[in-house]
Amino acid sequence: MILAHLPAGYLVGRAMPAAPWVIPAAVLGGILPDFDLLAFYLWDDRAFHHHRYWVHIPGFWVLVAAITAPFISRAWKLPWLAFLTAIFVHIALDSIVGGIVWFWPFSDTMYTLIEVSARHQNWLLNFILHWTFFALELPIIMTAFYLWWRRDR
Ligand SMILES: [Zn+2]
Repeated sequence: MILAHLPAGYLVGRAMPAAPWVIPAAVLGGILPDFDLLAFYLWDDRAFHHHRYWVHIPGFWVLVAAITAPFISRAWKLPWLAFLTAIFVHIALDSIVGGIVWFWPFSDTMYTLIEVSARHQNWLLNFILHWTFFALELPIIMTAFYLWWRRDR
């Protein structure tokens, strides 16, 4: 998934009961795993797949959820749930055409639903011109944009 993470986070926020900070928390959760691209490009010189950073590992977020759950106040339960749900939606969407280590810490194997073949030299074109972009990513973006556009009506 290239462009739909922020819109997908917005859709997670819209699907939850309306409450303060739910949508911002969901949007943040929708994009936060890709903050690892900073380390990927700036410090680690693309030495390994960025989906191997802890922010893209479901088992890490299960631990975070389990550890933080007892400390979340009633007022922050919904934003916390929106944030974590959007994180898992991000990771699930990444797993469609990119590898995710779903069974960490038991296995380091990356699982991908659909392999994108390298038809073009530019890796981005391989994803933008792949059918999954038009079948999954664009509908997410368009639905989120439509709901955002009509949010006060
Ligand atoms: Zn990602």
